Amino acid sequence: ATPTSIMVGTGKGAEHGILIKGAEHLENAHRLTTIVLDKTGTITKGQPEVTDIIAVGALSRQDVLTIAAQAEKQSEHPLAQAIVKYSREQGLAAAEAQDFTAIPGQGVKASIGGRNIFVGTRKLMRENNIAIEAELAKIEQLEQQGKTVMLLAVEQAIAGLIAVADTVKDSSAQAVAELQQLGIEVWLITGDNERAARAIAAKVGVQNVMSEVLPEHKAKKVEALKKEGKVVAMVGDGINDAPALATADVGFAIGTGTDVAIEAADITLMRGDLQGVVAAIRLSKATMRNIK
Ligand code: ADP
Ligand code: MG
Repeated sequence: ATPTSIMVGTGKGAEHGILIKGAEHLENAHRLTTIVLDKTGTITKGQPEVTDIIAVGALSRQDVLTIAAQAEKQSEHPLAQAIVKYSREQGLAAAEAQDFTAIPGQGVKASIGGRNIFVGTRKLMRENNIAIEAELAKIEQLEQQGKTVMLLAVEQAIAGLIAVADTVKDSSAQAVAELQQLGIEVWLITGDNERAARAIAAKVGVQNVMSEVLPEHKAKKVEALKKEGKVVAMVGDGINDAPALATADVGFAIGTGTDVAIEAADITLMRGDLQGVVAAIRLSKATMRNIK
């Protein structure tokens, strides 16, 4: 009876867009105690839009946008794409920068007309000895609204701030509530700042937040929860999430996410939202009941 129930369960999953790679994953899903949700692209739509541009010092807002777009043009990060798209919509031309370097989880470094440019987090600025104290109040005010703030530095001085906002997927809050009703502890994990992370978490009813986690540390966070004796699922969509998806007891990839995430995961959610996680766990529980 066991293999048959699993086969039926796997088939039912497929009908609902839940692609399960092996029988053991369906079995493991009913034991989950803890679920870690990536923020960008998993809880949110992952299509950030520019909301604020603030010029600091001599440059105009238009200059800030133009320089940032140039620096970000070669980056594949959704935040970079939001800046490039917005500058295009404003009719600004953005030539490509020289010496482009992506700094995962932090931002980018480039050279434009012989000037050194950084776009990214506070940490990136601090590590490159760029003073940000004068801008902190403005940054925190934007973050309080759930926005992600990127700083632009030109020749070692802050020249502007660019804020972006991402919208929560329609089904995220409902799915989180249902997971909690199933007795599962829900976490949000992100490379984004604490304030923006908390603001998004509050919108969908998540109390546990791990923020400012560098891409290479997401898997370690999952490992730490497992060491506490928890049975942990990770849900993610990005290249950054792949190691954590592989480390988790059950890795769920959002089907609209990157191939790398889908390859690393045990279960792929073709409908692209968190309702699929709830459905998979219910299916797992029903399947295991049939076996017993
Ligand atoms: P997430 O976990 O939300 O997907 P990442 O780990 O990719 O985020 O990035 C963490 C933070 O690093 C972002 O919120 C942003 O502030 C900064 N960052 C990353 N890539 C870029 C970039 N290309 N340009 C500017 N900032 C970036
Ligand atoms: Mg993501």
